Amino acid sequence: MARIWLPFASYNLWLQFSPAVGKERWHCDMKRGFARARKREPQVKELLDKDNIPQRIGILAQQGVYEFHQDPLILYQKEAVEQVAEILQLSKEPVVVQQRVISILENYQANPILLGKNIIKLSRGDEGFPKPISIVKDSYEINLFAAIDCIFTEEDGRVHILDFKTGKSDFDRRQGYVYLLAASYLHPKQQAVASFYNLETGKCSECLSATSAQLNAIERKLVSIAQQHQQQLTRYRQNSADFKKIFPPNPGIACQYCSLNSICEFSVHKVST
Ligand code: SF4
Repeated sequence: MARIWLPFASYNLWLQFSPAVGKERWHCDMKRGFARARKREPQVKELLDKDNIPQRIGILAQQGVYEFHQDPLILYQKEAVEQVAEILQLSKEPVVVQQRVISILENYQANPILLGKNIIKLSRGDEGFPKPISIVKDSYEINLFAAIDCIFTEEDGRVHILDFKTGKSDFDRRQGYVYLLAASYLHPKQQAVASFYNLETGKCSECLSATSAQLNAIERKLVSIAQQHQQQLTRYRQNSADFKKIFPPNPGIACQYCSLNSICEFSVHKVST
């Protein structure tokens, strides 16, 4: 049976919609417009595809953790990092990616935080889009996408959703709440907690939990974002000349690191040619 199309919601869309507290200067709605409404234009696609080094490191780091846990005995072997690097075919990656991923693998071998846990799901990292969770209520319907890295059960029976991070970005509690909402549909009979672990710095977040009322508020927030986003996409399809009104630019410091600055007429960053 064909899957019914519904407006979609995800943490990434929420992040593109509204910045984390203190990150307002880095936020730009026009970036979301390029990434979501114009992503199939060849020039935009090429620039978005180029901006994938951090994403590549994240995927390989997740794959590395996955491979370590296919045979946890490997963690005790002297050549473990080299073995996993070979499975990941790291030598084919850019040098910067190789160096960071090797360091992540070394960190993980030194501190394998999933060792001994009752893992019920460990993502390989390259699965692509997760299967959506369809949320159907009287007044709204959405598909929720939550790419969960790892789920294990605590000794007290709670499910624990662990999200692996790389790089320097801060943990965003909103992402944890989206995972908790997903867990409430995937494991409705169990209480859930969510946390983050940075594979490069070794930093752990606090464990987040949420009441039903909080999850309800998060769900409504995601529904509102999904609906607004769909309305904006529809407006853009009806009149592409309104791009800058629908997705207003926020020229400033963010332009320096924006992968689209070479084609954005509002960029204040001079691109050398
Ligand atoms: S270059 Fe600046 S204004 Fe243009 S999309 Fe990027 S951040 Fe926004």
